[in-house]
Amino acid sequence: MLPEEYPISLQSNGILLSEQLLDCCATHRVSVAVSLDGPAEVHDRFRLTHAGGGTFAQVMAGITQLQAHPAASFLNAGLLAVIDPTSDPAEVYHFFKTVGAPSVDFLYRDGNHSKLPEGKATFNSLEYGQWMAELLAVYAADPAPLPIRVIDDMLKVLLGGSVSKEGLGVTDFGILIIDTDGTLMKNDTLKSTYNGADQFTRPVNIRETDLLTFLASAEFASYRAMQQPTSAKCLACPQLHVCGGGMLLHRWHDANGFDNESIYCADQLHLIGAMRQLLYTYQLV
Ligand code: SF4
Repeated sequence: MLPEEYPISLQSNGILLSEQLLDCCATHRVSVAVSLDGPAEVHDRFRLTHAGGGTFAQVMAGITQLQAHPAASFLNAGLLAVIDPTSDPAEVYHFFKTVGAPSVDFLYRDGNHSKLPEGKATFNSLEYGQWMAELLAVYAADPAPLPIRVIDDMLKVLLGGSVSKEGLGVTDFGILIIDTDGTLMKNDTLKSTYNGADQFTRPVNIRETDLLTFLASAEFASYRAMQQPTSAKCLACPQLHVCGGGMLLHRWHDANGFDNESIYCADQLHLIGAMRQLLYTYQLV
């Protein structure tokens, strides 16, 4: 079995990246993506140390170390940014271009129907969708763009292709997290819904379990099935093939669990509309 068939990637906040860790990742073909939300004033708004200070300088030092590693061309898997809808998307995008990462991905902030995401006023408000639509415009106008995974995936689907990662489209992704102590966990983003949402019924550890046996288990199958949208609104939605009903955590409501459209439904519809308009302008649809 080649490592390329089952790529392993480590998501890091960048602070504890060391030469020794990067050597280990290079040896075992584990790529490293770093979480960075934008320039210092954007990143340090939410990403704080236990003492309350911003982590921007430490993250940038980690990225510099990653980029200087002899195996950087393999190791450097790009950036992951959580959107702050109060920031300027053009400023954030152009900052990321200066960092020298091969790509960037953007995530909607954690939140659900019972606990609205920070920066989103109501279910129907468009703060995140408008931010993404502005980012799309900047991206499309750039003659040498920095690849943005989420935008590329959505455009690909609109042009008849398929997505490369969870949270969009209707491709079935089986996401399993291996915690640092070896415990097998569900998608860690589910932690934001209810206590224990990211845990399987009984603790399973990679040191005691055959991974392929667990992947074939009924428990994994039922967790995997949860990622498919079930809400009547999504199943009847003409944009389901692009949006996919959003990430599971964003569908949560304390009253009825995950059987809902994404809390970012209006934002997604706004962004998909902007994408269709863009493709129409370029006479691609
Ligand atoms: S979340 Fe909204 S836009 Fe997305 S598939 Fe469901 S109804 Fe459609």
